[in-house]
Amino acid sequence: MEEKVCQSCGMPMGATDETFGTNADGSKSTDYCAYCYENGAFIQDVSLPEMIDICVPHMVEGGMNETKARQMMQAFLPTLKRWR
Ligand SMILES: [Zn+2]
Repeated sequence: MEEKVCQSCGMPMGATDETFGTNADGSKSTDYCAYCYENGAFIQDVSLPEMIDICVPHMVEGGMNETKARQMMQAFLPTLKRWR
């Protein structure tokens, strides 16, 4: 089974719907996480470089080298639905 990741920030969303965002009709969004998407709209209106700036510190906190984290996000995020 393929793990679902948020199509905005790239966060793994796991097997349950707890981390899924919500659509305008109150149903769960299977594309975006609760940190990015609420009631059918993106919570943070950011550009791709801004999203990278938001994500990198979290990855560094998780023990990743900052340069490496930035390179990874720069390669990975543009493949996601929100940024395509
Ligand atoms: Zn997200």
